Amino acid sequence: MTLTRTVEGLKNGTVIDHIPAGQGLRILRLFKLAELGERVNVGFNLTSRHMGVKDLIKVENVELTEAQANELALFAPRATVNVIRDSEVAKKHKLAMPATIEGIFACPNSNCISHVEPVDSFFYVTPQGNDVKLKCKYCEKGFSKDIVTAVE
Ligand SMILES: [Zn+2]
Repeated sequence: MTLTRTVEGLKNGTVIDHIPAGQGLRILRLFKLAELGERVNVGFNLTSRHMGVKDLIKVENVELTEAQANELALFAPRATVNVIRDSEVAKKHKLAMPATIEGIFACPNSNCISHVEPVDSFFYVTPQGNDVKLKCKYCEKGFSKDIVTAVE
């Protein structure tokens, strides 16, 4: 497969497109993209033919992994993630909702053992309609994704 489409202004890096408007900032924070010291171009509330409005993130010299792309699916199930090398699309990640999420979000339950023990957080992911429920492996409590992802 040859991909020759060029992405304006990005030689090497990742383009995350078709992010639901309002989720772009969250994704920047989630992957700490602004803290990497690389150039980041973001567009919020851009016009989209299919979505009405959308957010877009371009980050230089950083390639999102398949696992990270799947974590994106929590916030932006229809986002497109293209890895750019030498100004060409080298890889298109297909997003799939992950079955589990490890070590990214803290458990919202302050009594949870994961806050005391030296363990990575661990959630089981269950899609429920338009929402996603996350269940903590340690305290076995279930949470809406919005609660879990809001905890810093
Ligand atoms: Zn917990």
